[in-house]
Amino acid sequence: MRVRRKVGVCSASVVGVTVVALTAAVLSPPVASASPTLPKVPVAQGYGGAVVSDTVESTQAGLDVLRRGGTAADAAVAVAATLGVTDPNVAGLGAGGYFLYYDARSGKVYTLDGRETAPAKADQNLFVNPATGQPYAFADAVTSGLSVGVPGNLATWQRALDRWGKFDMSDVLQPAIRVAEQGFPMLPAIHDQIVLNQARFKQFSSTSALFLPGGQAPAVGTNFRNPDLAKTYREIARHGTRAFYGGPIGRDLADAVQHLPLAPDATVKPPNGTLSVNDLRAYRALDQAPTHISYHGADIYGMAPSSSGGTTVGESLNILDKFDIGNRDRTQALHYYLEASKLAYADRGRYVGDPRFVNVPTDALLSKSYAEVRGCNIDPIRARPAPVAPGNPLSPGPCMPPPPSVAAAPDTEVHTNHFVVADSRGNVVSYTNTLEQFGGSGIVVPGRGFLLNNELTDFNFTPTQGTAPDPNLPAAGKRPRSSMSPTIVLRDGKPWLAVGSPGGSTIITTVLQILINRIDFKQSLPDALAAPRASQRNTPTVTAEPAFITANPGLAGYGHTFTPQDEIGVAAALEFLDHGQILAVGERTRRTGTSAGVVHPSH
Ligand code: GLU
Repeated sequence: MRVRRKVGVCSASVVGVTVVALTAAVLSPPVASASPTLPKVPVAQGYGGAVVSDTVESTQAGLDVLRRGGTAADAAVAVAATLGVTDPNVAGLGAGGYFLYYDARSGKVYTLDGRETAPAKADQNLFVNPATGQPYAFADAVTSGLSVGVPGNLATWQRALDRWGKFDMSDVLQPAIRVAEQGFPMLPAIHDQIVLNQARFKQFSSTSALFLPGGQAPAVGTNFRNPDLAKTYREIARHGTRAFYGGPIGRDLADAVQHLPLAPDATVKPPNGTLSVNDLRAYRALDQAPTHISYHGADIYGMAPSSSGGTTVGESLNILDKFDIGNRDRTQALHYYLEASKLAYADRGRYVGDPRFVNVPTDALLSKSYAEVRGCNIDPIRARPAPVAPGNPLSPGPCMPPPPSVAAAPDTEVHTNHFVVADSRGNVVSYTNTLEQFGGSGIVVPGRGFLLNNELTDFNFTPTQGTAPDPNLPAAGKRPRSSMSPTIVLRDGKPWLAVGSPGGSTIITTVLQILINRIDFKQSLPDALAAPRASQRNTPTVTAEPAFITANPGLAGYGHTFTPQDEIGVAAALEFLDHGQILAVGERTRRTGTSAGVVHPSH
């Protein structure tokens, strides 16, 4: 992985300026103010490119790169790196994720799998306590060295720049360096996440030094700086990604996992992990074909395994295909939506894992003929008791009601970030990345300013599929199954929508629901995102936002019961309108609202 010098994005860097001069610019202290000039709004419309991300600083960083002629890939790396500063509990160098790219030149959608991997010393018993022979409690495993996978974000950023960028890593890191150095006003959402994590952040001296100065979460509105992270980004800007995947940053990272930086007054002694510098050196972000299905005149592209996002969104839509839900009574249409995802989730649990380790029948799961058999006996007036059993995509057989089954309880994590970018050339990025839980493992790499993920807890700790093999057990070098569902939708061969969300296993249903709201129910994109959400993941009750339960009393008559959850997902989306206009849409209220912006607003 090398740092390429292409076109600079710093105001001082223009084509033709020598490498030496540019490097000096990288090294000199930042002078521009980190304060964004952008208003924080959830919806924007206009021309010339667009960004929707969690924070105003990250959206501004992406728009600035677009204004300077960068591609959507260049801008996306600037957004992602800045989120590492301003959204540090869900993003950054310690995280991993999935990157979808629509390339306007070829007219094709490509993906990068930047998921974390298990270290070479991991095996199926990764989460089994050797002292007892029993699996660790989930609550203990999440704050341990065992949970940390090799982070994939930086490799993803470099791969995206190599394939589709015009700028260098050193250029696109500049906005993030500036914000980390100068600080940003502490957001209520970040403050709340730190408070939520206070007990475990206190266990690590490096984490409390960064997030609990004086023993408390920084007050909302105070300037929050991260000079260690600015220094780390500068080191990457200067020496390339090898500083991380094998160099000094990587050595510090591996050391933090193998010898947890516990505070002198720590009250717990979590197990160390084995992640090594060699594991970092071996890491690659993988080029991968997207999933694809056609649905009601649109082409839906998603993330193939190791994520279950593309297959589960796709299978659900294929099941819904023949029910014409857009022309039904809304309550019955939602009944079909809930039943379709219930069936698709059963298949997700049974078949989807890292395809380099298990045989995932991706094409069969996404075939219209399998969906026909799977959905053939959805009862139009009655919810089938959940959990239901998986089908057999390779040998679907005749139309039979799916028998009841045992299924693992889905996770309830809600802790990722998703953002979208488009440029004036028509390229589009839809990128979901995460540390897994808010604050990941809780471990900040000492002196480096970033948290480490706890993504390996997305593996099943013990087999979940009864006598059938479980596709998602840990193994050396394996990637845990994800639900991340970055999606790009084409219509008539041109980009129409880009969408995605955080939310653990509810990500899939959030994306699915937004798609049917827009495609079948013909809601505007802002309304499709704002609509209350419900998530049926093959569980006895449906997880739903209270407003969804109130708005849809008729669903009880179908036998659906609900478990309320305050918020589901934090979506970000784009729609491509006529005459080159873009509608950029974030959340109005969820996670206290997100930030949409366009290069040239239309009003
Ligand atoms: N680790 C989760 C996944 O890959 C995402 C984390 C979250 O959204 O809470 O599916």
